[in-house]
Amino acid sequence: MNYHEQIARAAALIRESTGFYCLTGAGLSTESGIPDFRTPGTGIWEKIDPIKTATVEVLQSNPRLFYEAAFNRFASITLAEPNAGHYALARMEEMGYLKGVITQNIDGLHLKAGSRKVWEVHGHLRSGYCLGCKKRYPFEELVQQVELKRIPPVCRSCYNILRPDVVLFGDPMPPLFYEAEETLRRCCDLMLVAGSSLVVYPVAFLPSLARKLIIVNLQPTGYDSVAEVVIHEKCGKALHDIAEMLSPREERE
Ligand code: NAD
Repeated sequence: MNYHEQIARAAALIRESTGFYCLTGAGLSTESGIPDFRTPGTGIWEKIDPIKTATVEVLQSNPRLFYEAAFNRFASITLAEPNAGHYALARMEEMGYLKGVITQNIDGLHLKAGSRKVWEVHGHLRSGYCLGCKKRYPFEELVQQVELKRIPPVCRSCYNILRPDVVLFGDPMPPLFYEAEETLRRCCDLMLVAGSSLVVYPVAFLPSLARKLIIVNLQPTGYDSVAEVVIHEKCGKALHDIAEMLSPREERE
């Protein structure tokens, strides 16, 4: 299949589906200026190893390292804006096709683009909380304290360390991951995977719950051989082109 046939096939599968969900990864947001982990040459993994800094262990044993290495990267992510890929997915939901997005991204760009049903299974950067008394804070509170060189930032009530609401290496998965998994088991007949290397578990297991798969990714993934369509193109272009081939479901029926 050439590129245009792949886009047409993907759109046809979406039209036929009754339970269409999307799983997104860091590759969807590279076009918003946020580096992913594994793109050769630009991936974060090649510069700093997140397994050594963005961990619960480092946060507790060396909070200064956590805030100096991992946190500055988190703070810069909050300035990013959605790209054509995020907007295309929001349109697919608006048109009545996409039932929800499960994202590994912590950047909040699906919500900024207007998607309504989003499971942020690795957390987000809108808030944080105290490791001691669990009091919640807006994310800006953590940023402001770090900017004032109060590293690590601490709770105003009990002076324990504050942490962001992201799932760090070593954290358990949040309840909404299991909610998303359960929904996919019950309802998903088609999943579009966009911008994920599909190597981070347990999320990488979710595509096995879909009856049919569409994969949009620059590099091959372990699921390519079982997918109906594999599109090796940038997410922004491919998702935009797929959305352009769909019209609102109400008009069609
Ligand atoms: P990953 O880095 O392992 O894989 C990204 C994949 O996207 C790669 O295979 C790459 O080839 C592909 N890619 C890059 N740019 C692309 C583009 N424009 N169009 C299509 N494909 C593109 O990312 P992952 O699978 O999401 O797993 C990494 C983990 O890192 C996740 O758990 C996630 O939470 C975290 N992370 C999040 C962000 C973010 O919030 N934006 C950024 C970096 C890492």
